[in-house]
Amino acid sequence: MFSTFALDTQVLQRDLCTGCGACQGLCPYWDSVHGRTVCYFDCERLDGRCQRFCPRMPTDLDALRRKAFPEETILPEIGPFRGLYLTRAADETIRAGAQHGGTVTALMELALREGLIDAALLTRAQGTLDPAGALVTKAEEVRSCSGSSFQIPPSLAALNRALREDRYRSIGVVGTPCKTLAVYKMRHDPLPENDNHAGNIGLVVGLFCGWGLDWDGMRELTGRYADPAAVSHMDIPPSKYHSLEITAEGKTTSVNLDEVIPLVRPACRACADMTAEFADLSVGGARSADGWDVDKKWNQVVVRTKKGQELLELAIAKGVLECKDVPESGLDKLKKASLGKKRTAVRTLREKDGTLGYLEPCGQMFQDL
Ligand SMILES: Cc1cc2nc3c(=O)[nH]c(=O)nc-3n(C[C@H](O)[C@H](O)[C@H](O)COP(=O)(O)OP(=O)(O)OC[C@H]3O[C@@H](n4cnc5c(N)ncnc54)[C@H](O)[C@@H]3O)c2cc1C
Repeated sequence: MFSTFALDTQVLQRDLCTGCGACQGLCPYWDSVHGRTVCYFDCERLDGRCQRFCPRMPTDLDALRRKAFPEETILPEIGPFRGLYLTRAADETIRAGAQHGGTVTALMELALREGLIDAALLTRAQGTLDPAGALVTKAEEVRSCSGSSFQIPPSLAALNRALREDRYRSIGVVGTPCKTLAVYKMRHDPLPENDNHAGNIGLVVGLFCGWGLDWDGMRELTGRYADPAAVSHMDIPPSKYHSLEITAEGKTTSVNLDEVIPLVRPACRACADMTAEFADLSVGGARSADGWDVDKKWNQVVVRTKKGQELLELAIAKGVLECKDVPESGLDKLKKASLGKKRTAVRTLREKDGTLGYLEPCGQMFQDL
């Protein structure tokens, strides 16, 4: 049993808050200001949904995983796994406005069009800055949310509000690993007397994530290289480029990653999940021998559940997604990158107080890293 006080002392004060918004939209006491989570009142509830859903409160990830995924699908390095694909949206107008190959946009449009979901919880940014959660109900609205913002918006607040109203039967959620973990906690470990209608979450699409960045710092950094209002795209190419690319008014500027690293949210260094292991499908940038110029317009997709498999197969059968062969080394490279993030998380947490912190309940998963 925890109290709101525990969320403050164990998460906020220990720099573990990812800003996902899972604690918000439930009561008036939790809010977000410029990506920072704030608590207006220390309520005395011992087991509220805010702390129950928080992805950084102590969680037995192994037990949660076993509740949601068949044991035989689980790979220790990247979680539940039914297949790896390289895909892109067949519609080039989707690709033009997307972060990479537009796979996420194409899948969410299809899911809405086919009635597999009746609402989608996405993120809409101004250019790529100041993002906010956006609940859309029409396929035509999905493209207005394409692209990645490296600031983390508290979009789960919008999900909590939508669930509370019990207005939608099947909501599709797109989010970074912290968010998709929170969503699985909502679905598979709800408060018995108040589950917030988590059964109305119908699909989870995770985004690969290295880290998110500080809101104010990002705005300031962007302003040094471009007019923030004119930025249309940002991306982090593979590590050998050591850069952040900012595109504004058709011109792309490479910023040395050394300027960006100090803006990484401290909580992201304690995150052990690069591939959004709690999801039906997880989508990231492609990595192949073709090089970045080609890869940046493709995605790699990890299929994790039967539902995810069915959606991907439908998208391919209907010509919504195109595929190409995954390089032989593709899965090994992904496992290596994922393990790298897990090791950083373990090191970061141990440096805090010698323990695995919020990962302690499933310490055996991280013992041999
Ligand atoms: C903070 C962050 C870090 C990332 N780090 C990596 C990485 O290290 N390696 C990697 O391969 N990929 C990373 N990604 C994922 C990558 O940027 C693309 O989202 C992914 O490849 C899907 O591309 P797409 O063309 O299909 O996306 P699109 O079709 O353009 O769709 C992108 C979707 O992401 C949603 N979205 C945008 N910003 C956010 C956000 N901040 N939080 C939640 N949802 C958002 C939008 O609503 C949209 O639906 C990261 C994404 C984010 C947001």
